[in-house]
Amino acid sequence: MPKNNIINLFAEILDPSSILSGDELKSRFYHIWKTDISLESLCLLLPKSSEEISSIVKICNENNQEIIIHGGLTNLVGSTISNKSQVVISLERMNKIIEIDEQGKTITCESGAIIENIIDAVKDKDLLLPLNFGARGSAQIGGAISTNAGGLRVFKYGMTRNLVMGIEVVLPDGTIISSLKKLMKDNSGYDLKQLFIGSEGTLGIVTKVVLRLYRLPKTRYTSLAVTNNYQSVLDLLKIMEDKISSSLTGFELLWNDTYKKMVDDKTLYNKYLPDNFKYYVFIEYMGGDFENDYNLFESVVLDSINKGVIDDAVIGKDDKEQVNIWGIREDVAVLADERDFDQQFDISIPVALIGKVIDKISKELKDCEGVKTIYPFGHVADGNIHFIIGKDSDDDVLKSKINDIIYNNTKLVDGSISAEHGIGLDKKKYLIKSRSEDEIDLMRLIKKSIDPKNILNPGRVI
Ligand SMILES: Cc1cc2nc3c(=O)[nH]c(=O)nc-3n(C[C@H](O)[C@H](O)[C@H](O)COP(=O)(O)OP(=O)(O)OC[C@H]3O[C@@H](n4cnc5c(N)ncnc54)[C@H](O)[C@@H]3O)c2cc1C
Repeated sequence: MPKNNIINLFAEILDPSSILSGDELKSRFYHIWKTDISLESLCLLLPKSSEEISSIVKICNENNQEIIIHGGLTNLVGSTISNKSQVVISLERMNKIIEIDEQGKTITCESGAIIENIIDAVKDKDLLLPLNFGARGSAQIGGAISTNAGGLRVFKYGMTRNLVMGIEVVLPDGTIISSLKKLMKDNSGYDLKQLFIGSEGTLGIVTKVVLRLYRLPKTRYTSLAVTNNYQSVLDLLKIMEDKISSSLTGFELLWNDTYKKMVDDKTLYNKYLPDNFKYYVFIEYMGGDFENDYNLFESVVLDSINKGVIDDAVIGKDDKEQVNIWGIREDVAVLADERDFDQQFDISIPVALIGKVIDKISKELKDCEGVKTIYPFGHVADGNIHFIIGKDSDDDVLKSKINDIIYNNTKLVDGSISAEHGIGLDKKKYLIKSRSEDEIDLMRLIKKSIDPKNILNPGRVI
């Protein structure tokens, strides 16, 4: 069918303000981070309900029309790029909060709801959505579900998968599968929602969700500790787990170069501790006892210094300082702005091996001509380390060299090339370094049986 005719079909089911095409696309993007490249697409559709999405997808299915799904556009793996012949469906208008169940500790909302808005809405009811990552002010819950996002509190609360109780999705043939149950336990057959969590929009469009919430902790303290020895980082983790396990919500690590750059004279962040240590551990404590929590946290940190496990530490003494200390870790993404070009990584490594593996990778990267800056940091308690690698050119040979250094070293220790960001388009070539051929064949089989015409997010993941 001529492409204009399919836009006419959309016009029969959507109001005109929900269809953008031609010059109207110039002000739209496929990614919101570090990009000013306008969106290329046949048209961008802004549906307002699951039923509208279902009707759009039915038209696309009947006409073999490829669809690219847009959430908050914060992914770091090229997932939302499209071409002139693809239709983009954006979930941005489907952002309603439908219900907060205070007793059952759940929230039901549309998938275009921004994560930070959900966090704020439930906070008013003394509840916590523990999803916490730098892009939460732009990322949507549907995007987080489709990528199974992680972040800074996975250690205690798990990945997004652990927070999803119910889901509604539109399949590639337009069928709406709605299972918005608020149940912790439901073993009645296959747990179908798991198919859509983390499959990066290749199997269905998430339209509504029910999320599990927690009681809002009353206290929050953060600390920054330093050491030159990776074993001490592990020893500190053990002490924290032993002494404050239920209140330990974050245990993050910055390497020296990363800390140094985050607190140098040109930034807004305070240099709370000198910049000559190898490791900087950021600890978050969240509890429920105003009277005693600070003293308990302080005594555990002090004890770790006295026993020589860590060399020094600071604890934020008021809310402002807590936020400032944590900000050094949380805002690390600003380091990607330092150079014209960068490559970012998100690998999983067995926790005990992180020290050695990151040393080896860093040395190999330093020897690689064209690499200008190397900033490792990550969620060390989950074994998830990120790299922002700065370069002055976008040369393909250099790009491959850097990818090979990171992924070959990851494979050597049976790690994963993507801990939480997904595969998208950018990492597809390297999927084989993380998953066996049989696993990838099984993924293809699932994709083929749910989306035989390959119209939904084609070419992504597999
Ligand atoms: C500064 C910064 C920090 C970050 N920190 C973290 C972090 O700590 N942990 C982490 O896991 N990620 C992190 N990310 C990556 C990113 O924020 C997450 O992957 C996020 O979940 C993407 O959500 P989104 O709404 O922006 O999705 P998008 O980028 O729009 O889309 C991501 C993928 O999901 C698909 N998709 C989106 N919405 C839907 C839907 N409703 N139904 C079906 N498919 C859909 C898209 O087609 C695409 O394949 C970070 C990103 C930035 C820029």
